Amino acid sequence: MKTRQIERVLTPPTPHMVGDGFRVHQYIPSGIGEGFERMDPFIMMDYNSKFYFPPTDQPRGVGVHPHRGFETVTIAYKGSVAHHDSAGNSGVIGEGDVQWMTAASGILHKEYHEEKFSKAGGYFQMVQLWINLPAKDKMSSPKYQGITNAEMKKMELPDNAGTVEVIAGEYQGEKGPAFTFTPVNMLNAKLNKGGKATFSFPENYNTTVLVVEGNIKVNNSEEIKTDSLGLFANEGEEFTIEATDDAVVLILSGEPINEPIAAQGPFVMNTRSEIIQAISDFNMGKFGYLE
Ligand code: MN
Repeated sequence: MKTRQIERVLTPPTPHMVGDGFRVHQYIPSGIGEGFERMDPFIMMDYNSKFYFPPTDQPRGVGVHPHRGFETVTIAYKGSVAHHDSAGNSGVIGEGDVQWMTAASGILHKEYHEEKFSKAGGYFQMVQLWINLPAKDKMSSPKYQGITNAEMKKMELPDNAGTVEVIAGEYQGEKGPAFTFTPVNMLNAKLNKGGKATFSFPENYNTTVLVVEGNIKVNNSEEIKTDSLGLFANEGEEFTIEATDDAVVLILSGEPINEPIAAQGPFVMNTRSEIIQAISDFNMGKFGYLE
């Protein structure tokens, strides 16, 4: 099997606030800077690197807003987030958990720091991804998957190297709990210092790694430090990650949908006229109601 090489290593872009609760570095699309297509189907990645929020009685977050045409996935590494949407779904995710919301035909939602976490204050660290939907599924019904850490498949690596958690897709035949519309692999590698893990995905799958904790070396050559992103070339399949300190690494690899992308604000469709329709439907209250 041919080795898949790192094309570029990116350090965290200047952060910005989303609402008052998420201090994020936008890696996709603006950090990478090659448009929505480069990491298709992962069309957006906001990374809240570890950040201390002081105690407050007013939970910080982002208020009611719409989405149509894709999924939002939140992976909590530190802290706790509460979610409510206009389809009647709500949930709280804490450390190690994932919230997978399919906006599809349209939804309103809000996301806040969970109340107890807000009152106590603390370190907050999170990844939010937007995963595109193919045209045939963009207008399907909204859906919500709250995935606890306990539900994730965990593969113990040989030689006490660590563990690979499977959120979506698979690792060495073990499948993750998330339902996906197109092939998506989402893994957390939790490696002990000196531990190694090998991954293999089809050459055409867009693939990236985010170093959430520690430092790693990829293919025994490229060093990637805490909070940095490694973008892989679409040549070869297999790569190896070695933890040069205890490390947590988010690994994303997905089959590109390869359809036209028309995006505006919280709507991601295939054509400009579908965006105009989404704005009109939202203004007419067709996304439901959420207080
Ligand atoms: Mn949102």
